[in-house]
Amino acid sequence: MILVGEDPASKVYVNNKKKACEYIGINSYEYLLPAETSQEELISLIEKLNNDERVSGILCQLPVPDHIDDQAIINAIAPEKDVDAFHPVNVGKIMTGNFDFVPCTPAGVMELINESGIDVCGKDCVVVGRSNIVGKPMAMLLLHRSGTVTICHSKTRELAEITRKADILVAAVGIPEFIKGDMIKPGAVVIDVGINRIAPKKLVGDVEFEAAEKIAGAITPVPGGVGPMTIAMLMKNTVKAAQINAQK
Ligand code: NDP
Repeated sequence: MILVGEDPASKVYVNNKKKACEYIGINSYEYLLPAETSQEELISLIEKLNNDERVSGILCQLPVPDHIDDQAIINAIAPEKDVDAFHPVNVGKIMTGNFDFVPCTPAGVMELINESGIDVCGKDCVVVGRSNIVGKPMAMLLLHRSGTVTICHSKTRELAEITRKADILVAAVGIPEFIKGDMIKPGAVVIDVGINRIAPKKLVGDVEFEAAEKIAGAITPVPGGVGPMTIAMLMKNTVKAAQINAQK
């Protein structure tokens, strides 16, 4: 795990991932680099880890400081060690449906859906958010399961009309309590990916939980819900990476 700079949220995420590794018996190594680390220095560390046989998975916690091109960092990680599944090779594999790794947050959402016995086939699925790490791969995974998928974003018109048609609604917007109760179809499955800190000790999601839980058929909480699943899926990808790298 590589962390560049002092972003407090990133530090918490890295620490949680480290604890998960300890819990399941994966050796984890942290590279805590100063904010002024150059892109060349960071890429050179990644290349060293790419070539280190003891390392199965490499993760660079995003965002990186502005002077570093995050896509260049993602591209530098060997696809077979890319446990976040952000490398273009892995992104392409997700498009085709023939993938080794799935980005951890959408994978966690699918695991929640599967474990809850929810059938996606033929359902109207609406994903609010089109980021490369959440919205787009999320939509693709739902499509692979034969959902009828709509992706919404900041330019979408009449958003509430679209979300109200969703049998499965995934909110990945990054705006606290953005999805209100009256934007949800009665009985819908509501998955809240958002993590928004609104006070030093208060996290809320992208869904107004209190109103939404009265209308939804199933709903994920924040904190809890998708966040811990994301870390569990990172562990799953890491084990898979170890298996793939052992076969080389
Ligand atoms: P981004 O900021 O990259 O993407 C946000 C998306 O929301 C964009 O596509 C944006 O549209 C869309 N959006 C913004 N405003 C609106 C609006 N008014 N109406 C409709 N769509 C809008 O965020 P991420 O995808 O990285 O993360 C989303 C949330 O999920 C955040 O709260 C983040 O903290 C959380 N998160 C949680 C994780 C977990 O483990 N649970 C992991 C990763 C993220 P446009 O593209 O047009 O700008």
